[in-house]
Amino acid sequence: MRKKQLEGRLLKKKSFHKKSWIISLITIALLFSLSTIREFPAFSNSLPASQIHPLPNSLAKWQDPNATDDYFELIETTPVGYLVWSQFPIKIYFEQSPEQANQESTANLIRSQQWEKAIKEAIAEWGNYLPLQIVNNPDSADILIKRSEVPRKAKLNPDTGLYDIPRTITAQTSYEFYLQAEAAQKKLAHRMFLKISPDLSAIATLSAARHELGHALGIWGHSDLESDALYFSQVRNTPPISARDINTLKKIYQQPSKLGWSISESDQN
Ligand SMILES: [Zn+2]
Repeated sequence: MRKKQLEGRLLKKKSFHKKSWIISLITIALLFSLSTIREFPAFSNSLPASQIHPLPNSLAKWQDPNATDDYFELIETTPVGYLVWSQFPIKIYFEQSPEQANQESTANLIRSQQWEKAIKEAIAEWGNYLPLQIVNNPDSADILIKRSEVPRKAKLNPDTGLYDIPRTITAQTSYEFYLQAEAAQKKLAHRMFLKISPDLSAIATLSAARHELGHALGIWGHSDLESDALYFSQVRNTPPISARDINTLKKIYQQPSKLGWSISESDQN
């Protein structure tokens, strides 16, 4: 029964009717959005077999002191399996503000520095569980964080014939797959793209960055409890990374994936 209710809630998030739009206006729900780039590369018929990577040390060491549960059953898998990283440290790039501000843009500079501070804090928090490294070159990054609005697209609802207007979206994560050439070998790899609104308060930016980074690190789904960082909606009291978040992350990193494994030359035609 619990699962049924959850499904109902998750469905509501994907498509909702006029009625729920009104409700959302009242509660001013700042929704996080999970979006997927499902473009599949041409090499999809020569993908490597799914295998389990060694568990990163930092996650192997993690023991939940209170032995709480997890929300692994709510995590989505993809055509290549779970979205785990296997090369560490995971490299993260985020948009930096210009060094010098002209007179008019001082306020903007302060805001962008506040945004950066929140992003760095969220990276430091997750860095306790997986090795992360901030890089200055976006070309070398695994995870790219943009200080940007998330576009809202009105979608035609086939049931009602009306356009559904999405609720406010403060942040978004999407991914792509590519072939990574390493010496003579080619590996199936992925990249994560985060957009985090520039218009949030410092605490809301931190909360959004914490949540979206959770997705980028592999938690591709949402928690059903408000006390978890990966809860599907933004809540008043911004939850820290919880034991349930880490229990879920650890379980994900013990699952098979095609990511990070070599595609053998002979298979490529
Ligand atoms: Zn989310």
